[in-house]
Amino acid sequence: MCPPADEQLAPPSKEDCVPIDTSAPAIPTSTGQQNGESHLPAAAQPQHHSNGGQNKKNPYGPRYSDFLSNTSNWKIIESTLREGEQFANAFFTLETKIKIAKALDAFGVEYIELTSPAASPESFNDCKTICSLGLKKSKILTHIRCHMDDARLAVETGVDGVDVVIGTSSFLREHSHGKDMTWITKQAIEVIEFVKSKGIEIRFSSEDSFRSELVDLLSIYRTVDKVGLNRVGVADTVGCADPRQVYDLVRTLRGVVSCDIECHFHNDTGCAIANAYAALEAGATHIDTSVLGIGERNGITPLGGLIARMMVADPEYVKSKYNLHMLREIENLVADAVEISVPFNNYITGFCAFTHKAGIHAKAILANPATYEILNPHDFGMSRYVSIGHRLTGWNAVKSRVEQLNLDMTDEQVKDATAKIKELADVKTQSMEDVDSILRIYHTAITSGELQVGQQKKLQTLLDKHMPTSREQSPAPGKREPVANGN
Ligand SMILES: [Zn+2]
Repeated sequence: MCPPADEQLAPPSKEDCVPIDTSAPAIPTSTGQQNGESHLPAAAQPQHHSNGGQNKKNPYGPRYSDFLSNTSNWKIIESTLREGEQFANAFFTLETKIKIAKALDAFGVEYIELTSPAASPESFNDCKTICSLGLKKSKILTHIRCHMDDARLAVETGVDGVDVVIGTSSFLREHSHGKDMTWITKQAIEVIEFVKSKGIEIRFSSEDSFRSELVDLLSIYRTVDKVGLNRVGVADTVGCADPRQVYDLVRTLRGVVSCDIECHFHNDTGCAIANAYAALEAGATHIDTSVLGIGERNGITPLGGLIARMMVADPEYVKSKYNLHMLREIENLVADAVEISVPFNNYITGFCAFTHKAGIHAKAILANPATYEILNPHDFGMSRYVSIGHRLTGWNAVKSRVEQLNLDMTDEQVKDATAKIKELADVKTQSMEDVDSILRIYHTAITSGELQVGQQKKLQTLLDKHMPTSREQSPAPGKREPVANGN
């Protein structure tokens, strides 16, 4: 069972880490302007990310050989309110659905996909209500079986489009609906013509596409493309496909149909984001996502994970389309609704996504965030943290904290204090409060002349005197007492 929602991400880093606000990176835009402010002098401005302020080509963008690539031209079909409803813990009331739909609209997804109105009377009513919200950015789709009864219900709700799906693999043809490809094709054409006659969008998708016969797939896609529709869909319903298979199938399909290509990837074997990216490289145009990836079994391509991947390929394009600062809010909203926690290592918003620990890394991060980050936390309204109260810490990271505390110390003094922090952290990781206490006591003593650089024994005596807990954290630890907020 999933963990309770009250274990939501609350960066423990607040305890043990330094938020590195002074290194807010300023990313050069394509026009050469700076889109972020930095408190650092111009000479110290970090040159974040791949182009370092120069007009160099993004090495992670499409190559000249990628003539099919749509990594700078794609749309999201957000399926939290359809695929996500199939998640084990999900039960969305109308009120919750409306909140999620409004949040996704404000984020800027191009489409929101809803559960079939044929699923239940409440699903029909919910679909109708969300269609009447008048969302600004997102078009509303619903996802139905390839059946005229479902299609009639769908158009009654006022949706902007209908996503039709039918199983084409031998598994599904044999064990699900029991129909052959001739019947499937005839049924598809009837439904497509009907939905088109209502003047709304129509997509036709196979189900379990990667375990379907290629010749069957291409044949039905070619036929429905000739009939005329907005999109065909490829679905890795069981999560078996790998990026190379995806690239090959989508590239082949791109040569067969002229309409858009939508892709839906399950994450059973951990390829959902990579497969989405490979699909776009091969010419797909639309990717299905859900918030936190929730869906049937272990779900599909997560919205945040896709955004993370696509930010690397074309940051300006992604930033121009989506309100990225809302990502965390939307994830928290959905996590609460389905009573799960945001994973610690979640893309972008996981509490350790932008936390740096190792000493050498911390030094480099302070000098230039791009050294150990491909994504810029500030693009998502997130902060970068450098953890300093541990044995791997370095004096540059400690110096950053000294500056935040407004303590006037020379580099030599910071190195001296760092040696003590490392010595104590060799026994037990020091909390941020402990580190602050050590630095304050050190600063007071060195300023008054009571302490000189290098007098580690004297420093320990001072810490013992002014920090009640330091005795327990010293190299000869005794019985632990509650941590005091020494100052
Ligand atoms: Zn699915």
